[in-house]
Amino acid sequence: MFTSHLECPKCSASYDSEQPHQLCVCGSPLLVRYDLERVGARMRKEQVACRSPDLWRYRELLPVIDDRNIVTMGEGMTPLLKLERLGRQLGMTQLYLKDEGVIPTGSFKARGATVGVSRAKELGVKTLAMPTNGNAGGAWALYCAKAGIRAHIVMPKDAPVIPRSECAIAGVSLSLVNGLISDAGTIVAQAVREYQWYDASTLKEPYRIEGKKTMGLELAEQFGWELPDVILYPTGGGVGLIGIYKALTELKQIGWVQGELPRLVAVQASGCAPIVRAWEAQARESEFWENARTCAFGITVPKAIGDFLVLDAVYATQGCAVAVDDDDTLAAEARLASVEGAFVCPEGAACMAAIEKLLAQGWLNPDERVVLLNTGCGIKYPETVRCDPPVLEPGDRLLA
Ligand SMILES: *Cc1c(COP(=O)(O)O)cnc(C)c1O
Ligand SMILES: [Zn+2]
Repeated sequence: MFTSHLECPKCSASYDSEQPHQLCVCGSPLLVRYDLERVGARMRKEQVACRSPDLWRYRELLPVIDDRNIVTMGEGMTPLLKLERLGRQLGMTQLYLKDEGVIPTGSFKARGATVGVSRAKELGVKTLAMPTNGNAGGAWALYCAKAGIRAHIVMPKDAPVIPRSECAIAGVSLSLVNGLISDAGTIVAQAVREYQWYDASTLKEPYRIEGKKTMGLELAEQFGWELPDVILYPTGGGVGLIGIYKALTELKQIGWVQGELPRLVAVQASGCAPIVRAWEAQARESEFWENARTCAFGITVPKAIGDFLVLDAVYATQGCAVAVDDDDTLAAEARLASVEGAFVCPEGAACMAAIEKLLAQGWLNPDERVVLLNTGCGIKYPETVRCDPPVLEPGDRLLA
């Protein structure tokens, strides 16, 4: 197709994309590079507009070579909703929600899984392993089941329980660790060395990010190939943010979008905010965050392997990094549901809390076009909602 090679964003080393690769010898993640001149010459906006409403419509900017290797369940082209009522309450005129809650497996991790698993299948991978905070494990378990790839998933024992069920029902090997995703990562790294499995950890294979970048491609298409001013993203490993930046840069290179890129905002929880701390110090990399803890479990990542790429994208777009308290996140989750009918995940709600904070600071202008990325559905997080309704006896009267 249009893939040219894998490239190291740190030391510029180049690798053959037809061989399975993990990290660069220098320890950095590798990124897929395309022959963008050929893509630009061959791909037409009108043609894309007629294709199936899923992320594979951007075929020329995706790394799978043979269509027969594509493992898909119809993920992508999620709704971009204008939040009129909430916008009005906040004095904002162009507030949008991109809702990844309505996607197979209930989180945007399905984007990474469809592309990552398809490409693993194409490269002949038989067994893979991955550490996860839950949603990635659930998605990869189900996509691996469809692909006929054996998967070993390790997640923290405190992770939300529904992804466990996704792993169990998919019939993969699941282990819990009495610790954080970083501890799960150490266990997986050991097993991968010992058994020569394919390591599907965040950014240790170069294809998951190609799936996640399609959020950026979709946003551009949904806005009529214009770009919003600001995109807020709940940042754990940061793959979505790096991916959106990569996607928009590729679109610029093929001439499909013009002008400034949106300011990218990395949203974290104040109980685990290594990227925010690094951004405040204007550092190039983050430091390990001790005793990480937040209700937004998907962003409990004490040290991301791609932290420097997240920070680069934030600096390059004059974005920022902001931490929000769990109380504000839970209040924002309730507000989105009660005002807009959107039952979002706590990670998405954290972005809403961040919007309120950035408005108050004057960093956001109320007339800017602002996109809040909701990365998953609230239905996967029953534990974040307090619910104790009265219990009636048959024949009781309902009080007005
Ligand atoms: C994984 C996850 C995130 C964080 O994604 P990264 O790409 O690792 O930054 C955010 N929200 C939800 C719901 C997730 O599952
Ligand atoms: Zn390198």
